[in-house]
Amino acid sequence: MNLKPIIAAGLVLAVPLGVASRAPQLSRFEFSEPHMGTIFRIVLYAPDEAAALDASAAAFGRITALDDTMSDYNPQSELMLLCGHAAGPPVVISRELFRVLEKSQEVAEKSSGAFDVTVGPLVQLWRRARRQHELPDPESLARALRLVGHEKLRLNSRARTAQLLKPGMQLDLGGIGKGYAADEALVVLKRHGIGCALIAAGGDIVAGSPPPSKAGWRISVASLETPEKSPTRFISLHDAAVSTSGDAEQHARIGGVRYSHIINPKTGAALTGRSSVSVIASDGTTADSLATAVSVLGRERGLDLIKSVPGASLLFVQDTGQGVNMVEWQFPPAPASRQLELEDSKSR
Ligand code: ADP
Ligand code: MG
Repeated sequence: MNLKPIIAAGLVLAVPLGVASRAPQLSRFEFSEPHMGTIFRIVLYAPDEAAALDASAAAFGRITALDDTMSDYNPQSELMLLCGHAAGPPVVISRELFRVLEKSQEVAEKSSGAFDVTVGPLVQLWRRARRQHELPDPESLARALRLVGHEKLRLNSRARTAQLLKPGMQLDLGGIGKGYAADEALVVLKRHGIGCALIAAGGDIVAGSPPPSKAGWRISVASLETPEKSPTRFISLHDAAVSTSGDAEQHARIGGVRYSHIINPKTGAALTGRSSVSVIASDGTTADSLATAVSVLGRERGLDLIKSVPGASLLFVQDTGQGVNMVEWQFPPAPASRQLELEDSKSR
């Protein structure tokens, strides 16, 4: 998972942004903190600043704890300690790690292994390749590939254990962790009595109930950042999540080819070309992992996957070099323009 710590001066930003006109008892507050290699933004409506601060601090606390559990940059994280037991007997793991691994395996099966958290060894190789602007050598790729495959990760829900079957296996939760953390942050806010909130972790956004007197949270979904780009799409969302996967932020050019940080676990190759995949689903964990899966599967098979998940919708934009290719499935139409005066968040 891409959990490079970002050093930021002020950790918490509290910005009361005025009183909502038709619900004068609730004010809008916004907070942000760096976690998991990105900025987590929480926008919420609360009766007063104390309540907002209290709830957001608890939500950030939960995100911090999940980062400590799932990070692959921290050798002491629960995930890394589990990887240290690769090829050993099953290991009892925490409830939260079990839940995210269980969900990962579910998406791996549904996507025929296009989403696969055992990609760790390949992620490491490609990370180094992007840094050094040099492709991984075929032998190392072949070696790494032999350690990848979701069937090599065994979970036992009754005993709450995980077992990595091969020595050298590495798990990577970069394609699901931010969505999961955003989901958990919303749960914490709700526990503090705040249901009207939005959590944005880079391209992964989870929305609670709509802002007072609004139909939903206005979110802009970025398309490809090309000069001739198709217009950014605005959607209105509540009680659901949207995630955008793409290479806008993490890619490298090697020998004139653009390599993404998303990897095809079957071939070991990093994705090339440019695409932006936005998925709406009932929760952030699902949206985040599906967006990564569809990026690997491509347009047709990706669409089939989305159609198989109740309530999921897709916006797929791809630059083929010959032009921009788009496909959408039940993606909500842009709300009427007069509703767009204020943007709540941006999925990429
Ligand atoms: P972002 O991190 O930019 O939101 P994604 O959600 O698509 O983008 O996650 C990409 C990350 O997921 C990679 O940086 C890597 O850590 C991990 N990853 C790469 N390929 C896969 C894959 N096929 N299945 C699961 N995780 C992957
Ligand atoms: Mg993802």
